Amino acid sequence: MSKLPSPKERPDLYDSYDCQEPSKPASQKYWDSVMPEHVKKAIAERQAKSDPTTPSADKSCQCFDPSAEPEWIDQTDIGMTDGYWDITRMRCARCGTAWVRAFLEYEAFSRSGRHYRAPACAAALPGITPESALQLITEASFRIAGGSYFGGKDHVSNGPSALIASP
Ligand SMILES: [Zn+2]
Repeated sequence: MSKLPSPKERPDLYDSYDCQEPSKPASQKYWDSVMPEHVKKAIAERQAKSDPTTPSADKSCQCFDPSAEPEWIDQTDIGMTDGYWDITRMRCARCGTAWVRAFLEYEAFSRSGRHYRAPACAAALPGITPESALQLITEASFRIAGGSYFGGKDHVSNGPSALIASP
């Protein structure tokens, strides 16, 4: 069932940044459920040999800056959740960090569009479902939110917490 490339085939998926740490012990279960064994192993190995000079998550990249407009590549629509969140995944063109993004809008209500995105582990993304992507964003400690609901201004929305789903 696994079409995931191995670290040897696509080292960029494994080495350009670290997967996000679970924000609370309960989340470990979730990560365990979505992350294949060889990915966990690759991360553990990298963390074991990591030193301060190893580039990991480039938190200084513009994709972590709510005021910037990063360029995205590999943008893919994952689908819609039962709660009508439209889920997309993409990668930052500059640092390669993978993000999952949830967007919700009520056509009957103006200024109801809102989106949240959270950095994710690219290796865990192939095969991710809309519901599990939404769960990932809900549980993420670092998120960027924006949209007309928030006055069109992107901002950091720290989690874990439920996304605002009311009109
Ligand atoms: Zn970036």
